[in-house]
Amino acid sequence: MEDEKTLSILVVGSVAFDAIETPFTRVEQALGGAASYFATAASLYNQVNLVAIVGSDFPHEYLDFWRSRSVNLAGLQVEEGKTFFWRGRYHMDMNTRDTLDTQLGVYADFHPVIPDQYRDSSLVFLANIQPELQMEVLEQVSGARLTVLDTMELWIMTARPQLTEVIKRVDVLLMSEEEVRQYTNQASVVIGARQLLDMGLKYGVVKLGSYGALLFGADGTYFSAPSYPLEEVIDPTGAGDAFAGGFLGYLSTVALNEDGGYAVDDLKRAVVHGNIIGSFTCGDFSIGALRNLTLTDVATRYKELVRYSHFDPNWVSTRR
Ligand code: AMP
Repeated sequence: MEDEKTLSILVVGSVAFDAIETPFTRVEQALGGAASYFATAASLYNQVNLVAIVGSDFPHEYLDFWRSRSVNLAGLQVEEGKTFFWRGRYHMDMNTRDTLDTQLGVYADFHPVIPDQYRDSSLVFLANIQPELQMEVLEQVSGARLTVLDTMELWIMTARPQLTEVIKRVDVLLMSEEEVRQYTNQASVVIGARQLLDMGLKYGVVKLGSYGALLFGADGTYFSAPSYPLEEVIDPTGAGDAFAGGFLGYLSTVALNEDGGYAVDDLKRAVVHGNIIGSFTCGDFSIGALRNLTLTDVATRYKELVRYSHFDPNWVSTRR
């Protein structure tokens, strides 16, 4: 039996500078990247082993912050050149956005190298980088108790066969509602999710933006997690990656069943943790809202969500 205290979470993904425009405000050169959001969120729960690349222009301040949060940076490559840059603009609904610019910088020649000290990571998160690179990571780790995959429209459109191979190799797939439709060509996310499960996944999570998330299991599990009702969304960038951080972070704190799998109730709680961490992320630009977040804050929203979504299970019709 694994010692629960030694569980660590490996993440591979982008560490970036983002420029974000919303209908209300904008920010330049903010810390972004899927792995940045994920590592900051998941390190609330357990140690995170980061695999990524940054350029020589990347500020030390962020590295010091991650070190202070038990994010292991042994797998972070620092190369001469520019850090990955992404510019996005949100529409009025703050759920949909356009990519205006992507500059790969040092990321163009990136190949993930998993340091020896990361190889016993118990949980693995493949954030939204090229599927070929995600596969390179899977080939370097073995024996993880859980592998979780994220992706994005770009790879569905440009690297579909490679993405398909990665989906067949992982336990859990996280996709937004639109991505499920794009990948499966099904109007119904329920049918689309079933099609994805048929590829060999144990679970699929469909993210619904500000409407919560759905959990589908190959064992027939279905669960609808409510979203936290935010009054103000400052910037939803990274909410999906922070969702993954809450999901894997929570799962890194629970024991496995006798049969070596997770209890369905734990997977449901993990989706709720994902929603909560995602909701906090939207409250500020970049990782601003995650920096000082505590598990006590998470517990408060957890209780509120239970209250908001619980309804009387004992209703019966008195009419025939
Ligand atoms: P999310 O809002 O959860 O989908 O994640 C947004 C993050 O993904 C931003 O911080 C970007 O820096 C990063 N990102 C955008 N495009 C790419 C890409 N092509 N490859 C890797 N990361 C990207």
